[in-house]
Amino acid sequence: MARTHYQVLIIGGGNAGISVAAHLLRRKPNLVLGIIEPNDKHYYQPAWTLVGGGAYDIQKTVQPEAKYIPKGADWIKEYAEEILPDTNTIVARSEKQIYVRLPCCVPWHST
Ligand SMILES: Cc1cc2nc3c(=O)[nH]c(=O)nc-3n(C[C@H](O)[C@H](O)[C@H](O)COP(=O)(O)OP(=O)(O)OC[C@H]3O[C@@H](n4cnc5c(N)ncnc54)[C@H](O)[C@@H]3O)c2cc1C
Repeated sequence: MARTHYQVLIIGGGNAGISVAAHLLRRKPNLVLGIIEPNDKHYYQPAWTLVGGGAYDIQKTVQPEAKYIPKGADWIKEYAEEILPDTNTIVARSEKQIYVRLPCCVPWHST
């Protein structure tokens, strides 16, 4: 069953979120860390400048998100809707509630 409590919860599994997760887990492999990211695909946006210039294949900039989730991190396939700082709670769009000691947003959007 999926966890509902994390020591660190990263909102957004883009380049920044994946990098932060990998760095933290390298230093502390037992950290209970989750990455909340709804998208199945990971986009390497910096290469899009080259794609626009015709020098790079756009297909190479799109990879499965699962390929980049660092070992030891839980991928929570949800959209973070709200952060409730008083209770250290992240509320997902599915209304699932996740409790965390340290939320980390890199970056996230809520509509
Ligand atoms: C054409 C172009 C060229 C660029 N060139 C460069 C460059 O040369 N060098 C450079 O440093 N940067 C460049 N950038 C900027 C680039 O976007 C960033 O460097 C990098 O991709 C940002 O990574 P990120 O993880 O912060 O954001 P993103 O890669 O955008 O990832 C954000 C993630 O958060 C997720 N997310 C958003 N909201 C929520 C939510 N509410 N709940 C859960 N998940 C959420 C999204 O699904 C996404 O996966 C370029 C950008 C573009 C568009």
